[in-house]
Amino acid sequence: MNQFRGADTGGPYTVLCDHVYEPLAQATRPLRFTVRAGRIADVADLDDGPPPAGGDVLDLRRHVLLPLLVDTHVHLRLDPWPLEPRLRTQPELRPIEEELPVVRRRAAEALAAGVGLVRDLGDLGAASLAAVEVARHDRRIAKVAACGPALYRAGCYGRWLGQPFADSESLCAGIRRWAADPRVSVIKLIPTGIVNFKRGRVTTAPFVTPDELQAAVDLAHELGKPVAAHASGDEGIRLAVAAGVDFIEHGYLMTRPTLDLLIERQLTWTPTFAPVHVQWRCADRCGWNGDVRGRLRQILDDHAAMLRIAHASGCRILAGSDAGAPGVSLGGGLWLELELMQQAGIPAADLLTMVTWTASQALGTECPWGRIAAGAPASFLAVAGRVDRDVRLLREIRWVARDGRIVPGRPPRMSADPAVDDQAGEPAVAPSPAHAEPRA
Ligand SMILES: [Zn+2]
Repeated sequence: MNQFRGADTGGPYTVLCDHVYEPLAQATRPLRFTVRAGRIADVADLDDGPPPAGGDVLDLRRHVLLPLLVDTHVHLRLDPWPLEPRLRTQPELRPIEEELPVVRRRAAEALAAGVGLVRDLGDLGAASLAAVEVARHDRRIAKVAACGPALYRAGCYGRWLGQPFADSESLCAGIRRWAADPRVSVIKLIPTGIVNFKRGRVTTAPFVTPDELQAAVDLAHELGKPVAAHASGDEGIRLAVAAGVDFIEHGYLMTRPTLDLLIERQLTWTPTFAPVHVQWRCADRCGWNGDVRGRLRQILDDHAAMLRIAHASGCRILAGSDAGAPGVSLGGGLWLELELMQQAGIPAADLLTMVTWTASQALGTECPWGRIAAGAPASFLAVAGRVDRDVRLLREIRWVARDGRIVPGRPPRMSADPAVDDQAGEPAVAPSPAHAEPRA
């Protein structure tokens, strides 16, 4: 139940807050504003006389208010739980009527955690694309941007994330098909494998030749779509950077010269710490012995060192949780990702700007907020505590509004990091039968 009129309909109500975060200034200001028809209006200094008469007041003094967050790398369709490999089932394609409620529920979890936009980077079918349309108008869930199925080399890594291509011709046909879909905002390619944690490196050669990848990227750009590439291992990352892929996802085991090239070409890097952190933190349950756990730690430490260099060198970095990977929840996963980036040495204020304004610029029109300003959608969250000094306070989110509509109640505490939350590793809110995937 919301406590005041207008909370369900997007206004009118007046918000008072002594710490409204301004991403460009990286500072907070005491402001008041009115929410009317889902948008921000009448922005004024907090002390600028009494609030306008009529309508209710949402008093957020002693809170920090920010634009909603953007998670630039999720998989709405994948179930993060259970953690244990032996208990996990392989995702399979189901009818859209079965998939859409699951995807919708996860988009609702994201919004409850203050995440206003998720970008899905790989889906077996079209559930994420259906969610793009549903989420456009449904203010109870996060907005969705999506690539549809990721394109992967038949027989190589990527089977759970999209559709296979056999050769250059079928790769280009796939790009043409998905670029023509108005719901698709980015083309996702999988030119490399994943890190082999036992060996501590990517053991497979890149799945595409430089010419194949270049032709694919050029075609997507010609068709007006940016390209995101799953890329780990220095050889594969360098290949993707050289081809001018817009978004380098993961980028594990990147060397300094490759990072320098990425920065020189003004590409964007999303380091996705969370999925590997979970493997390290819960190594036992993930089936890893002490040796592998040590290798995971080294990989994470090297990744953190590269992040510090990238940040100091002006690289455009985004926060993406890879939610849907084992142990990484929608919403809570982004909190964890930000905590890990802060732990790596990136200041909280830089992270808040990255996850609001920078992300909204990088993803373009999908995300019409990024600042609290007159005329912008009233899409914000409020935290009880100086989250601009410590992102761990995102766990103290008290209010979330999308297009002026207040999300009812307090968001569930989502256990993205079981160890941090001192929980057994399961979500705080148990999955309902509709949420759980049937086990074979
Ligand atoms: Zn992913």
